Amino acid sequence: MKRTQKEKAKDFTGNRCDAPDCQEEGTCRAPKDKTLTEYYHFCPKHAREYNEKWDYYRGMSEEEIEANLREDVVWHRPTWSFASRRPSLKDPFNLQKEMGIDLGVALNEKITDPEILKAMRVLGLKQPLQKEDVKDKYRELAKKYHPDINGGNKVAEDAFKKISAAYMVLIKYFKKG
Ligand SMILES: [Zn+2]
Repeated sequence: MKRTQKEKAKDFTGNRCDAPDCQEEGTCRAPKDKTLTEYYHFCPKHAREYNEKWDYYRGMSEEEIEANLREDVVWHRPTWSFASRRPSLKDPFNLQKEMGIDLGVALNEKITDPEILKAMRVLGLKQPLQKEDVKDKYRELAKKYHPDINGGNKVAEDAFKKISAAYMVLIKYFKKG
């Protein structure tokens, strides 16, 4: 027999998912901001869904994103407001760091390590650094400067070595993260 959502909701005493109309258990605890004093609780599906939506907003200003969210784009009704201290836009609830969830996106941290910055310059990459961009850029440049297609040209060979070294540095950075 199919039970109503209300009946199901009675079965557990924990937190319910904070997404509107969701009766699942909010097993994913997600900080509302970087002070870590208040949390949302999402079911895994909504935690993932919400992060995917945020990725969609890349390139928009924070004001545009906020206006967009108010227009019910995400949950089809007005949602939570955003405090001035916002977590990273790519991982707004800090799921990656706080809970070890691999969302397949890079953390939006400001990079200051000179070795990383130098490697980024070699590959022509800008902040925020994204793993996929590193891979794409490397593929593009490696194809262009590979010694095999440049007839052993010394300049191309040196460039290829530099590009490869920079790539290794950046990939290592993501493994550490
Ligand atoms: Zn949910």
